[in-house]
Amino acid sequence: MTAAGPGMDRDNTGIDRENQARWLIRGVTIPGDGELGSRATDILLGGGSIAAVGAGLAHAGARVLDADGLIALPGLVDLHTHLREPGREDAETVETGTAAAALGGYTAVHAMANTDPAADTAGVVEQVWRLGRTAGHCDVQPVGAVTVGLAGARLAELGTMADSAARVRVFSDDGRCVSDPLLMRRALEYVKAFDGVIAQHAQDPRLTEGAQLNEGEMSARLGLAGWPAVAEEAIIARDCLLAAHVGSALHVCHVSTAGSAEIIRWAKSKGWSVTAEVTPHHLLLTDEIAAGYDPVFKVNPPLRTEADVAELRRALADGTIDCVATDHAPHPVEAKETEWAEAAFGMTGLETALRVVHRAMVDTGLLDWAGVADRMSVRPARIGRLTGQGAPLAVGGPANLTLYDPAAPAEAVTRAGASKSRNTPFAGMELPGRVVATFLRGVPTVLDGKLA
Ligand SMILES: [Zn+2]
Repeated sequence: MTAAGPGMDRDNTGIDRENQARWLIRGVTIPGDGELGSRATDILLGGGSIAAVGAGLAHAGARVLDADGLIALPGLVDLHTHLREPGREDAETVETGTAAAALGGYTAVHAMANTDPAADTAGVVEQVWRLGRTAGHCDVQPVGAVTVGLAGARLAELGTMADSAARVRVFSDDGRCVSDPLLMRRALEYVKAFDGVIAQHAQDPRLTEGAQLNEGEMSARLGLAGWPAVAEEAIIARDCLLAAHVGSALHVCHVSTAGSAEIIRWAKSKGWSVTAEVTPHHLLLTDEIAAGYDPVFKVNPPLRTEADVAELRRALADGTIDCVATDHAPHPVEAKETEWAEAAFGMTGLETALRVVHRAMVDTGLLDWAGVADRMSVRPARIGRLTGQGAPLAVGGPANLTLYDPAAPAEAVTRAGASKSRNTPFAGMELPGRVVATFLRGVPTVLDGKLA
């Protein structure tokens, strides 16, 4: 703690500092607040909050950002990011992963627990949480492991992770499925005490032994071991029933099949506490793209069929699937540039997610930008039990926001970015839009599309 002398925040230096911290965003459109582009307004940020919203705002000394033609979304929140630290800093670090997140318009990410060591103790989740604060690009909310070492045998210390400085509320063995129904039941029961949620990577391990690609025409044609939809759907159905039985909260990670969406729709119709996410890649790509055996398209769960993609989009649009989550899964070059069967599962996604959703959901007329704000910020923050994130843009709210140019001409995605890894499946693909700026509690983390 530093001692502040009396009147210290009233001297000239203090006033300058306050003015530097103020930003006036001019001529921006807040989706949901009238037709896109028809009602430009100004937003004044100060003291980490939204100080004022309205046309023609003036504030002497504030830094001005001309946002003509841009839309303002509440800062994006990712429920599913693999930051790889500790243990796999060759693939990603908290510093590089959160820089990628900020460039993609994110102000908060949930860091998955499958690190080395796994985030299964208060010590490791606090370490990740502190690394996030040091990096400062966005908030990092650690996810705790459900089982010790993600081994699926014994429950991890969920309570001590919840009580730690990281205040963990989401628990997941992601990368692996909690396949033992009794362990899953116990975990769901345990987190009720502190309003936690179990995020399940739904994959029956027995039905997917050696599986490589969605089981269907493509896997048969390519001679790759099939990954049946039922391996995902059976676990989701079981877990919905378990969540209902114990009265607890289930979140389904990366839903990839039409059948999964149908089961979740059914569970929600019963009033059960079930939420779900879909990845950008499952909203845009199908298993057809694997025809050239390029392992950049190898992912868990696998890319599915056109019919699945269509249903996932519909389910996201009607709210059956609550949100978009990236499942950003960076891997070093040697893990991906090898034979299909040997290659690691996973794709990067933080830097392209909003543009992919623009293409898959907005260009198709399935969601408007207010809907995107809901599915990529408001709902994921609620599911992740985050405070100070995911709030619709309004006076008094936190100054976490993303400025996006929806009219930016479509540009080919490049492999190079802030992420340490290059395994983006969208490389070379022309995607619309551009993240122009990101603000975290009133401070820019990205300006003019570059780290601030
Ligand atoms: Zn997963």
